[in-house]
Amino acid sequence: PVLRGQALAANGFMPQEEGDALYDAAVRAAHNVADAPFVEVGSYCGRSTIWLGAAARHTQRTLFAVDHHFGSEENQPGWEWHDTSLVDSRTGRMDTLPFFRSTILDAGLSDVVVTMVGDSATIAQHWSTPLAFLFIDGGHGTEPATRDYLGWTPRVLRGGILAIHDVFENPADGGRPPFENIYLPAIESGLFVEVSATGSLRVLQKT
Ligand code: SAH
Ligand code: MG
Repeated sequence: PVLRGQALAANGFMPQEEGDALYDAAVRAAHNVADAPFVEVGSYCGRSTIWLGAAARHTQRTLFAVDHHFGSEENQPGWEWHDTSLVDSRTGRMDTLPFFRSTILDAGLSDVVVTMVGDSATIAQHWSTPLAFLFIDGGHGTEPATRDYLGWTPRVLRGGILAIHDVFENPADGGRPPFENIYLPAIESGLFVEVSATGSLRVLQKT
């Protein structure tokens, strides 16, 4: 409950119900798959990371939190989800890394959360460790979503979990790439089955 309060106080986009479902999904993944770590793609200021860090602490796993911290397309100036308080005055560019770092430090999760700063697809390309749990909430354009799907999902072990955020089947509710380029290909591959849906969060288990 204390960590949930800290997550809700952090800047970000994860609603409470979906954060709680994310926590449950990661705990379930750890229950199904021994030893393997968790990966989060798209940490922003660390809000969702707290729920996942809490799950990592509870199950004695490590969470690798991947983000270049320059923000997604929709976080840039002129876009709907821009937050001027996150702009680095020296560069004029967005930088969520200092905010992320404070969030994780204040939550006391620095020992279970490893911060990975860089382009998700590049990190995925050089990442070979099998995963118990993967959460994709990075770039929501067609290209980044496709690259995250192709780069990261093959690492999920049987019994492991793939959680996807901002999945909107109906275009009126939001952007389509997480649905069309991550959720659908995962289901159509026959390798994943849906185990729960909460808001725009979809939780799939590898068969
Ligand atoms: N999970 C967060 C919100 C993530 S917003 C929360 O619950 O609050 C999406 C994040 O994805 C942004 O911080 C952005 O910097 C990151 N991102 C977008 N494209 C990326 C890429 N190609 N590589 C790494 N991070 C990326
Ligand atoms: Mg999201």
